[in-house]
Amino acid sequence: MGQLIRLAAAAGAALVIGLVSAPAALGFDGFGEATADSTYEVEIQFDVDLRGPAPDRLELLMRTPGDEASFVVPVEPGADHATYVWDTSVDHVVPNTLVTYQWRATDGDDVVLAAEETIRYDDDRAGLDWQQAQLGETTVHWYGDAEAQARRFGELTAVGVAQAEELLGTELAGPVDVFVYDSREDFFGALGPGAREWTGAAAYSELRTIFMWLGGGSSAYLEVAMVHEVTHVVFYDATNNPFHEPARWLNEGIATWSESGDAGEQRGIAEFEAGGGGLFSFEAISEQFPIGDRGGQLSYAQGTTMIDDIIDRYGREAIGRIAAAYRDGASDAEALEAGTDVPADELYAQFYADFGVDAPAPIEPEQIAASNVDRPAAGEIDEGGVIDEPAPPPDSAPGESPSDDGASSLPVLLLLVAAAILAVGGALWVARRAQRRSG
Ligand SMILES: [Zn+2]
Repeated sequence: MGQLIRLAAAAGAALVIGLVSAPAALGFDGFGEATADSTYEVEIQFDVDLRGPAPDRLELLMRTPGDEASFVVPVEPGADHATYVWDTSVDHVVPNTLVTYQWRATDGDDVVLAAEETIRYDDDRAGLDWQQAQLGETTVHWYGDAEAQARRFGELTAVGVAQAEELLGTELAGPVDVFVYDSREDFFGALGPGAREWTGAAAYSELRTIFMWLGGGSSAYLEVAMVHEVTHVVFYDATNNPFHEPARWLNEGIATWSESGDAGEQRGIAEFEAGGGGLFSFEAISEQFPIGDRGGQLSYAQGTTMIDDIIDRYGREAIGRIAAAYRDGASDAEALEAGTDVPADELYAQFYADFGVDAPAPIEPEQIAASNVDRPAAGEIDEGGVIDEPAPPPDSAPGESPSDDGASSLPVLLLLVAAAILAVGGALWVARRAQRRSG
């Protein structure tokens, strides 16, 4: 309705002006000032002035670090101004996220883009009187009495960066921010929902930001954690590519190995589990680690031990070669082979052999029993169904379950795929904004 009224108004205006003066282009006449303001855990508000009649379509394009593309929000223009409010009370955004935004107007065949602007989403919660100091490439931020601890973290960041640069054969690609939180509530308020409860420090590599909680552990733990977290940032720079993220076990393995320059107690954890609950397949810990204590600890332990083995057998340079292969877009298996000259499967097999155990094998699914539910008489329901289908072979890829009626179900499948793409597209952006956290 609003659109119609505006179109009518524009048409009326065109008529009036047309009578008074020579015909002129009467469309949207460009953007005025664009501004943004944020309140942590509340909102980010974007404002822009509009010249001339409202365009046919107005959109705000936004992206955060690590995004490959912008998220486009349609915005209803007012008479000479438009506002979009991103409700960050619902959609958690990590502090220090740099949001890049740009207004776009489409009027007839014309597309007008405003200049690109940025806003940094600061943690401006009441009581956090942030102070900061620059130490080399690191800016440390603290509040309250944490200055000495924050400066110590800054020094350790430099140590961790130098060490990781040497191991990975690259250089830190930009500055790093370290935020030191005193209370648990403040710290987890920064990380947002979804943070594991045992987290004491976290790196958001895309944001080049590390969050430390002073209550996260002893000062010895925090110092080791600082080195661990900044290694994640250097690893991100060393492996950054537009195709995929390196295996998580490898990322965490390198960060944990860097804490002491060896496998430390991690090898013992893997040994203990090899003789008890069993080891994981490396493919199983390439994306996410299990939430539980045993699964989480074992994932770190396997990653760290594998990195230690690779360095022992193939030299430290192997790690730099693996990182370089990732930068070129290699898969996990290709990167491991590029670093060691040994196929990944052989590296995995050697790992299990060292612990004297068999490599974990895929678990064959149990066949689903025939239904014992009374069904309507034949004719009202297709008796074929999927119940009697054979179980997929154990080596078939996920999503490739056999189907004997592919042709007839194709249209439905296409609809489902289309719906899934739409759903995933939306979810992906939300997930991206949530940012991947490396603990
Ligand atoms: Zn980590």
